Amino acid sequence: MERIDCDVVIVGAGASGLTAATKLRAAGKSVVVLEARDRIGGRLWTDDIDGAMLEIGGQWVSPDQDALIETLEELGLATYERYREGENVYIAENGERRLFEGDIFPVPAKTEGEIVGLIEKLDALVAEIDPDAPWAHPRAKELDEVSFAEWLGTQTDDEEAKLNIGMFIAGAMLTKPAHAFSALQALLMAASAGSFSNLVDADFILDKRVVGGLQQVPLLLAERLGDAVRTGQAVRTIRWTPDAPDAGVVVVTDSVEVHAKHVVLALPPILISRISYEPPLPRRQHQMHQHLSMGFVIKVHAVYETPFWREQGLSGTAFSPYELVHEAYDNTNHDDPRGTLVGFVSDEEADGVFSLSAEERKARILESISHYYGPEALNPVVYYESDWGSEEWTRGAYAASFDMGGLARYGADLRAPVGPIHFSCSDMAGKGYQHVDGAIRVGREVADEILGTS
Ligand code: FAD
Repeated sequence: MERIDCDVVIVGAGASGLTAATKLRAAGKSVVVLEARDRIGGRLWTDDIDGAMLEIGGQWVSPDQDALIETLEELGLATYERYREGENVYIAENGERRLFEGDIFPVPAKTEGEIVGLIEKLDALVAEIDPDAPWAHPRAKELDEVSFAEWLGTQTDDEEAKLNIGMFIAGAMLTKPAHAFSALQALLMAASAGSFSNLVDADFILDKRVVGGLQQVPLLLAERLGDAVRTGQAVRTIRWTPDAPDAGVVVVTDSVEVHAKHVVLALPPILISRISYEPPLPRRQHQMHQHLSMGFVIKVHAVYETPFWREQGLSGTAFSPYELVHEAYDNTNHDDPRGTLVGFVSDEEADGVFSLSAEERKARILESISHYYGPEALNPVVYYESDWGSEEWTRGAYAASFDMGGLARYGADLRAPVGPIHFSCSDMAGKGYQHVDGAIRVGREVADEILGTS
């Protein structure tokens, strides 16, 4: 077993861990980053699939994400806008395809009024929520005891309005059914993006992409850290001394033993309990980590010889709470003559299609995409479905959230260090929650936390 000594060992070479490592090293600390996978980046992953460059994980940057934007600037990475000229498509319950512009879907006037009213109510509630401490809201417990679906039912009896508003948080963000998470969890999701209106505004939330892919952020950070970053090193055991933070930690993989003053667990919180702790973590952590789970979504890419939908005057942006693919966008790469569509199949719909053969699943998904863009969409030259649920070191997509009641009960303790053990991840962020921006914010904060104690 190789022995390494350093000030801080970071477990996980995603955006969060690498940001923490970069900041700690800049402050003069010696760091080692241990990454289980053979690649850098965690949920940021750009790959070549049959000759097409596809972003299989996170990719979009929105204008409020200043921590991410600063990092892109520091690393010299250029961005470009998502294509959005022309009309959007909405598919109604009866299958009718309707074209529209702006954010409000072409629904009957009564439904439109209900949707606008719900957005106003949610904006007002979200304005009362501090994304860094949603549990501090005076009605936090009450809002955490009711599912988002039930809460919507107390506001309107218009099914189409409920489905559409539900979709923005459920299928599109937390990637869990609206009955499976609380109203408080929904408000945190919206507060983390500034407002509910921001989440509804695809031009805001899905604004820009990075030329060459967002995985370059962790790749370039890792490159600067050089041989301090070790891939293929799954951390199995952490030895620590409770109540004696100065005693430090020993972090053990199959081939390396790192002795350090602090460890940062920069992984999705659902993976914290996969590591053995000697002695075990305190009861609060044992309990809390059982109340978090990953959402689940399939990100589907379909590449065509040309972006044919643009010739029909379509932006590529498409939504329907009644479709298997509940949202889709033009995802054509910068300076690429080919056209790429990206679509999402979320939570229970994803379970459903994963019970089919690969051939049937592809046929069902392309059929749904063709409802938006016409029969030409049925025959892509490259087709790819992400499968984050099968990835041992992620186990779902996009990110982790608390179950009903968990946010008010445990949220305040999620990032609290335990002796020399610190926690960092996008799934623990306030602003930028479940996004790369949040991963970077928490990475910076955990570095400050350590620098403040040593
Ligand atoms: P991770 O990236 O999950 O990094 C954790 C790392 O820890 C991983 O590399 C993992 O391999 C490693 N690890 C785990 N266990 C161990 C262990 N025991 N030992 C050693 N290493 C270990 N965000 C956006 O901002 N915009 C988007 O458009 C967007 N779209 C997304 C689309 C998809 C399909 C997915 C999956 C995510 C998307 N996200 C998006 C979310 C974003 O990718 C994540 O929030 C962010 O990348 C998380 O970074 P992280 O460092 O906190 O965690």
